[in-house]
Amino acid sequence: METKFDRNESLNCSWVLVDAAKEIIKGSTLPSEAIHTLMKYVADSLKLAALRIHQPASRRLSTQITHEILMSKLPRRLNQVIAFPESVMKNIDTSVEREYLIYDSESEENPVSGQVDEGYVTIFLKDIDEGEFQGFLEMVFEGTKRYPSERDVSVLMALKELIFEQVLQYEKKRRAGTGASEDEVLDYLSGLHRYETFVKTIDDAIPELVDENHGIVILCTDINHFKLVNENFGYRKGDELLLVAGQLASEVPGIIDACRFYSDNFIMAIRSENPNEEKIRERVESVNQHNAITLQKVVSDSQIRFNSGVYVVRDPKMDAASAISYANTARKQAKVFKGMHCVVFTDKMIEELRRSEELNNELPSAIKNHNLVVYYQPKISCDNERVIGAEALIRWRREDGSFVYPDEFIPEFESNGNIIQLDYYVYDEVFQYLRRQLDSGAYVVPISINVSRRHLENENILFYIDHLLNKYDVPPEFIEFELTESIYIENIEPAMSFITRCNHRGIKVSMDDFGSGYSSLNLISSIPIDVLKIDGVFMHRGKTLADNDKIVLNNVIRMAKELNMVVLCEGVETREQVDFLKDAGCDVIQGFYFGKPMPEKDFSGFVKEYS
Ligand code: C2E
Ligand code: CA
Ligand code: CA
Repeated sequence: METKFDRNESLNCSWVLVDAAKEIIKGSTLPSEAIHTLMKYVADSLKLAALRIHQPASRRLSTQITHEILMSKLPRRLNQVIAFPESVMKNIDTSVEREYLIYDSESEENPVSGQVDEGYVTIFLKDIDEGEFQGFLEMVFEGTKRYPSERDVSVLMALKELIFEQVLQYEKKRRAGTGASEDEVLDYLSGLHRYETFVKTIDDAIPELVDENHGIVILCTDINHFKLVNENFGYRKGDELLLVAGQLASEVPGIIDACRFYSDNFIMAIRSENPNEEKIRERVESVNQHNAITLQKVVSDSQIRFNSGVYVVRDPKMDAASAISYANTARKQAKVFKGMHCVVFTDKMIEELRRSEELNNELPSAIKNHNLVVYYQPKISCDNERVIGAEALIRWRREDGSFVYPDEFIPEFESNGNIIQLDYYVYDEVFQYLRRQLDSGAYVVPISINVSRRHLENENILFYIDHLLNKYDVPPEFIEFELTESIYIENIEPAMSFITRCNHRGIKVSMDDFGSGYSSLNLISSIPIDVLKIDGVFMHRGKTLADNDKIVLNNVIRMAKELNMVVLCEGVETREQVDFLKDAGCDVIQGFYFGKPMPEKDFSGFVKEYS
């Protein structure tokens, strides 16, 4: 590996950094805020992979990481206790002359073993106050050839001094304080109250403020695709965005209190007179619009959108936690329904919640009793209008004979993880079907199966598919995976690794729902997918295809062909659409025009007739 560190190339730390750090302290009201902002600033200026504060731990020769800023994909170590070798700690305990330690993953004799990642240079700066060891500032430099000069070290030491001054102040305050410390009350990123404090405040406010004429609006909001902000602009920008979002939340007219729930999720409690649903939605949308304009400035005018859910507290006996959970349910709905940015929680949603709880509870027995049935929707070749494949789509036949469609349970199962069991069941059923078809000597077409984003979180799915390929002895070319467009945008790395592993096995992968609302145009040329499935939205906007949609379709199809992808159009319902798509160069068509999703027996008949 080419990671020899050149001792001549210095870090070039300048004293300007120290001046700026002093300014940051002046501008901070709380030590906790100063620590965080300083650390962010230092990590960013020096392009560190990580910056951590270690404080002495109760265990001998150990420190605990009490603050951590990660700028790269290093594992999180916050709160971990790190053991140092005796030699290092002795040195620290007895002398002040050795002020810093350098760990170089290429060097033979490292002072610290086991804790530092390969390909990184790590500097530990020691802090001594009144003769006592106070901890380390740990700076991790990624794969660079930089190594500190004496001057660099003096700048780093000065920065460390400033940071540790704040750390010690914070510690003192914390030990002195009788009640909760500020860090327990305040969220370090947004400066807002923490969740627990927020809930207490709102629990107190409800009986006081809610009566026949007054309510409290609980508003849960998250930033649409916040992850992309981090990815495109860096974590520092992401944090800055959250800080500004926090400020904006606390400035909403009528605000009682606000908090950051987690990540980019904020909750606000707002006073409201005689709240009616329409008025509330208008108010929330205008607040969102105003806030989006401010936040857009933080990220070079990139589009910022929110998903908001609202619950209105009208009962003075209501507890805050339930109100928040209703508002949060509404927020999730806003996320699911594309184009809806604010959903107000209604009684109907209580009914839906009850139903989805029912479905969750019934899932294991539905699987056991085969009440979940796989339907197959044919895919038709544009060349000769013969069937060349199918998509497996699940249907739920309940004990009372009613049918439940996937839109009603898939989103819920995706969010609670039940989708994994469900999909494994579907995959097994599909393989069994393929095996039966192969055994019967019938004409067999490949079946595509839907992959939930949840599967990309662990590696098991392909092991399971390997197991099925083996168990049923089905050639891999009979299986294709469909991953919806947004998965690629939100999880590009796991998606790429998934595709590579599929390629190795000879399994094709498609991008499902292309053009349904996300934009993956910038990614499409770099993802080695086999099939582009163009979403049905283009077909469903009117009775006939709109001229503008025709232009888009023509060009998307041409682009995909030039990238050597097979193009499939979904949701095709009319002859006119079929003819247009054929002319445009589309390869495969799926839709009600040729066939609805149908049970296995009907599909086998369909294949016999149209192959
Ligand atoms: P999808 O993957 O986009 O599947 C296509 C959906 O479009 C299906 O809805 C299908 O019935 C419907 N469709 C097909 N042709 C037409 C048409 O010509 N006109 C109209 N209006 N609709 C058409 P379905 O079966 O209700 O499934 C909904 C979604 O649920 C699927 O969207 C897929 O994302 C998910 N899903 C279904 N089965 C499974 C499964 O076994 N596992 C997972 N993870 N997701 C599944
Ligand atoms: Ca699909
Ligand atoms: Ca689709």
